[in-house]
Formats: sequence, C-alpha cells, structure tokens
Amino acid sequence: MKKIEFVASAFNMNEIPKDDLPCAVLCGRSNVGKSSFINALFSPLKVARTSSTPGKTRSINYYLVERKFYLVDLPGFGYAKVSKSEKNYWELLITNYFDTNNNISTVFHLIDARHKPQPLDLMLNEFVRSRELPYFLILSKTDKLKQSEIAGAKKDVIEVFPEIIFGTNAFLFSAVKHTGKKEIIKLLSSLYLS
Ligand code: GDP
Repeated sequence: MKKIEFVASAFNMNEIPKDDLPCAVLCGRSNVGKSSFINALFSPLKVARTSSTPGKTRSINYYLVERKFYLVDLPGFGYAKVSKSEKNYWELLITNYFDTNNNISTVFHLIDARHKPQPLDLMLNEFVRSRELPYFLILSKTDKLKQSEIAGAKKDVIEVFPEIIFGTNAFLFSAVKHTGKKEIIKLLSSLYLS
C-alpha cells in the first residue's frame, strides 16, 4: 500500500465523489492526529495537511488509495472554541454524511491515548454500532505516554467500549514512532486490496 492521492475537499454533500469505491472513514476529536495518521501510513509522502490550530478544517477530505478505496478524513469534533452548538453541528454532519454515502464500509475512530473517551466519542461509537458498520479504534499519540500509562489508557477504553479487543479491532498508534503502522496497513490491505 504505497499510492495515495488527494482527490477532493467536500464542503457539502453534493461535492463528495460520486463513484462507488468503498470508503474507510476517519473520525475523532479535533487535533487527535487524523492527518498525521494518514501521513504516517504513507510516509515519506505527506499528502494530508496537519495543523496546530485545531477545529479549522470543516471539509470532508477524500484520499484515493491504490485507486481501490478512499480514506476519508471527516472534520474533527469537540473543539471547544468552535461554538456552543458544536455537538449539534457535528451530529448533523455525521448523520447527513452517513445517510448520503452508501459506500461507507469501515469507520476508524481515533482517540488521543492521553485522554479518556469523551461524550462525543461515546456518541460516535454508539452511532457506528447502530448503523452496523465495522468499527476500528485507534489509540493515537502513544509515544507521549509511558508503558504503564498506555496500559491505563487501554483499560479506560475497554471500560466504555466492551467490544474492543486490542490487536483485532483496536490498535495502539504513534505517527512519530510508527507504532501500529504495520498492523493497520495489513488490515486495510486485507479489507480493500486483496
Ligand atoms: P487532526 O486535526 O486530527 O488531523 O490532527 P493532526 O494530524 O493535524 O495533529 C494535531 C497535532 O498533533 C499536530 O501538532 C501533530 O504533529 C500532533 N500529532 C499527531 N499525531 C501524533 C503522534 O502520534 N505523536 C505525537 N507526539 N504528536 C502527534
């Protein structure tokens, strides 16, 4: 899995690509590391723009991988400074997006390993399960934690999402150290490239 191309930034549902390629959708709080995740998987290419000012990107970004499937970067949720109606906005966006797009085939939910899952994380998990879509959890930025803290972070996640099994539907990840990269590439390849 080497080839990735940025193909579109959609600002509304009319702008999303109209072909039938399957979509692996990345979701998570603003600044959780979604762009860095994409870049780490395809390094040394740097196709996704990372940002230190969270909550700015409101577009749905489409990346075409090996001409076989899309990695879709959804706007991040939960950045407090955006507005009070953030939750409503994000709920509407995600419902709208999942209703409009019949090609969503998997959801990758990124959670910063340093923080316990937040209410919007719980909502997202519930939403994906209600749609009966395959769900994968990525615990990001694990390079920022000590081994003992990583064990605690895994426990926190399993406590709220009992269906999670690390190594199967959940992975530790670091865009800096490339922790988890091999496993995630293997997973995406088996889902979309075989
Ligand atoms: P996005 O808003 O979810 O796309 O997040 P970005 O990928 O833009 O990352 C937000 C910030 O977190 C940037 O400053 C990144 O350099 C940093 N970051 C992302 N992933 C990692 C990681 O695995 N380890 C560390 N130490 N920093 C990271």
